[in-house]
Parts: sequence; C-alpha cells; structure tokens
Amino acid sequence: MTKTPDCPAKKQRCGGCPLLALPYEEQLRQKQELSDRFLAPFCKPAPILGMETPFHYRNKAIATVAPGPGGKPVCGIYESRTHRVVPVRDCLLQDSRINEVVEAARAAAVRCRLSAFDEDRGTGVLRHFVVRRGVHTGEVSVTVVTPSPFFPGSRDFVRSLRAACPDVTTIVQNINPRRTSAVLGSAEKVLYGKGFIEDELCGLRFSIAARAFYQVNPLQTEKLYAAALDFAGLTGAERVIDAYCGIGTIALAAAGRAKAVLGVELNSEAVRSAQRNARRNEIKNADFLCGDAGELMTRMAEDGEKADLVFFDPPREGASRTFLEALTRLAPPKAVYISCNPETQARDLEYLAHQGYAARRIQPVDMFPHTRHVETVCLLVKSKKGL
Ligand code: SAH
Repeated sequence: MTKTPDCPAKKQRCGGCPLLALPYEEQLRQKQELSDRFLAPFCKPAPILGMETPFHYRNKAIATVAPGPGGKPVCGIYESRTHRVVPVRDCLLQDSRINEVVEAARAAAVRCRLSAFDEDRGTGVLRHFVVRRGVHTGEVSVTVVTPSPFFPGSRDFVRSLRAACPDVTTIVQNINPRRTSAVLGSAEKVLYGKGFIEDELCGLRFSIAARAFYQVNPLQTEKLYAAALDFAGLTGAERVIDAYCGIGTIALAAAGRAKAVLGVELNSEAVRSAQRNARRNEIKNADFLCGDAGELMTRMAEDGEKADLVFFDPPREGASRTFLEALTRLAPPKAVYISCNPETQARDLEYLAHQGYAARRIQPVDMFPHTRHVETVCLLVKSKKGL
C-alpha cells in the first residue's frame, strides 16, 4: 500500500486533492470503476496505468495570492467550494522545486511591498502566480497575473525573484481584469527572458508559451502518448490529423511514423509554439493550423480531403457535433480519442458508433493522482461497410 503523507493544508480544507485521504490503490480502483461505468458498454477498458510514486508530479502550480495577516500577501489554493485562500507551502502534488519558487515569488512580493489583490474590494496588484517547470531542462517560468496593466515595482520584483531563483528563466505579466474563475487573461507582457520555457517529452524538445496548454504530469503523459501511438499503429505512409493539438506534442511524436501530420488548435499562441517545436526538432512533415477544429476539418472535408488517422484530444466538454460530423466525412479508417472526461467521451462514442466507428481498445491512465480525474485513450475503427 502506498502510504499517504500528511498534508497540513488538507486540515484547512484545501480543495486541491479531494482523494488524498484514500490509499492510492483505492483511488485507482475507483477510477477504473468510473472508466468502466461509462465506457465498458463500448469496449472493456484495460487496467488503469497508475504512478509508482504518485506525489510531486505536477509541473505547474497555480498559486492564488490573497491579503494575509498585516496585509502581507499569502499564496495558496482555494478552500473547497469557497473563495478563501488556504496558504500552501509544500503541496504534495507539485514538483518540490515549484513549491520553492512559489514561496520565493511570495517573499519577493513582500520585499518589494507589492499588494495582493483583494477580491471583495477589487484593490491590489497580485492575483496569481502561475509557475511551470520543465522537468528535463530545469527551466522555470513565472507568470504574474494582475488585474490591470498597472504593475508598479515590477522591475524590483523581477530582480528580487531572479536573485533568489536563478533557474527562473522567464517572467511574464498576464493581465486578467475579469472576475471569473479563469486564471489567465488574454493580454501579456514579457518582463524577463524569452516568454516561454523548454522541456523534453518523448525524446523531443518543446517550447511552451505561458498561455499554451501543456500536460501537467510529464511521466504519465509519456505513457498516455505511448498508448495512443500504439493504438494508431502507424506505418510511415499515413496522413495524420492531430485535432486539439496544443503545442503539437502528439503530432510531433507521431511525425516520425507518418507521411505527414497536421495539427489543428484554437489557441494561436499554442500554434506558434507548435510551429516553433517542429522547426526546433527539424521535423519537416508537420503543419499546424489555428482555428476551431470542427470548422477547419469541415472545410477539409468539403475540399474532398481524406485522412488516414485522426488523433483528437478535446477539453472536458468533449468534441463538438461539428467536429464529429467533419470526422465522419473525412472518414479515417482509424481514430484515437484521448479524453479527460469519460462521460462526454461516452456521449461522443455513442454518436460515432452510429456513424460506423467501433471502439476496439480503451486504456485509462491516471494523470492526476489524488484528484477525481481520469484520462482515457480509445481506439476507434471504421467498419468496412460504413453505415
Ligand atoms: N493534445 C494536446 C492538448 C490537449 S488539451 C496535449 O496533449 O498537450 C485541449 C486543447 O484543445 C487545448 O490546447 C485547447 O486550446 C484546444 N481547444 C479547445 N477548444 C478547441 C477548438 N474548438 N478547436 C481546436 N482546439 C481547441
């Protein structure tokens, strides 16, 4: 049995890891059950791939900054279902170095007399610190989220944080005036460095822009992608689409085994990262397009284009109907559906079953130990007759 260490923040009702009190084996059993409940009607899921050491796996922290005792900023995670910030120093999910950098950012803010954003009054400068670390490169990025472009003392803060943490290679200010649960806004200013960090995954080098999606558990991501590539069974002759491609990780990992890959992605910064990543790894048979995956693929289908294989990895709400219709028109013999929500995946599999796509293999992967989330990869094969 994996022994669960004590977490002081848990006693204060930190909402970060709701399953922490359960032994890890029991968590895996529950996630298997969840995958089976939604997906077994289509194809029996294989045993879930768990982690050997399910702690400190996160390569990203979102620390919320709030006014603490004497008005000094404290950093932490929201209490379950409230907007009270529980101070967290040694989060068990985050990379230990990230925990240190969050604390260093907080200490730098105190030294520079920066004020925390007060949600009730709408005053103050610091809303969140988003810290990311490339586990293979050791490069760290710190994104400081502020409610307006106004960031007095930013130079002092950068100097102070850099002096404390030389591995912080870039610092970005993100401006988010909105009062929603979204952490990042759309405007950004690079305060120090290149504005992105680099990491390695599947033997390739990736640059990761501050606002682009990047899988948070690098060890498990390699297992997830290995399952996806195994299901794809590429021979080197295929035209492949990677829909909802983020910074192009799956597309580029597949490029060496395919004739050509095309990534489609809504976030323009992620697309720029993906293009940079193709060049960086000298991959010549990969292209990336920015736009809604469903709309772009509909246009491709209207132009009479075909694909031999489509990977798709949509957000929690699942694939859109436009996307599923376009997929069936592009008519790949195989598709690989990666999902972080078995409920919406089951809904989409139901639709695709009516279009002649049968689920043949399903592999659950535990990407998020101590949370309720489970990730599943599903191989879909088109029946010869179609429907
Ligand atoms: N496959 C990638 C990213 C998966 S996360 C990886 O493994 O890292 C889902 C991605 O879908 C995010 O990058 C998000 O920006 C993108 N996205 C969300 N809605 C989209 C849409 N309608 N069309 C295309 N991409 C979309």
